[in-house]
Amino acid sequence: MDRKSVNNNYEQVKDDLVTLLKNKSMKIMLEDVDCGYGHEVDTKQTTLLYAATMYKAFMELLGIEEDDNSRDTAYRVAKMMSEKTGGIREKPPELTCFPVGKYNQYVAVKDIPYFSICSHHHVPFYGHAHICYWPKDKLVGISKFARVVTHFANKPQIQEGMTTEILEHLHKGLDPKGIVVIVEGEHLCMTSRGAKAVGSSTITQQVKGDIDIKEALSMLKG
Ligand SMILES: [Zn+2]
Repeated sequence: MDRKSVNNNYEQVKDDLVTLLKNKSMKIMLEDVDCGYGHEVDTKQTTLLYAATMYKAFMELLGIEEDDNSRDTAYRVAKMMSEKTGGIREKPPELTCFPVGKYNQYVAVKDIPYFSICSHHHVPFYGHAHICYWPKDKLVGISKFARVVTHFANKPQIQEGMTTEILEHLHKGLDPKGIVVIVEGEHLCMTSRGAKAVGSSTITQQVKGDIDIKEALSMLKG
């Protein structure tokens, strides 16, 4: 089976799996996964249980033997993936803005940490984001930058997409004269597997509006 046939047969296979999971024969697998919610599960918990059961079956296929440490691993993986994709279901942070008044100057916030997972492999990538903007009429509370970065990192992403989404959201809320967003990231899909390019760092940058990029970079590097 190749990538194409996975996609072509996905709906059918998923239906078969869900039917199997609803059958008594598979119930034991659901009960094996100790989520602490018993049988009184809401839709979200049911989804987690299905996902955990599928992952548990995958672990079996890989030959991963269950022991005291991994008894609930399938459920933990399902729950972790639910947490790491919260950015899909949650709204981006609203930007509380203040009048710029006489403080007409560049504002730079650097080294904002983030943790994300890559769209291609669902393996972590992480690093820092750096933001510099030139206000027009509005300033934003600087803690919002960290919240915005965290929000857009919290789903499967490609770094280029994350950089653009952060920039667009800030630009929409702040309406600055100009803004630059730079993201640096280490991608474990590239450093821990595949090319094994340990120590490599990926840098993405997006600029919008009127901003002196040299001045912005000197602030972010200083
Ligand atoms: Zn990847």
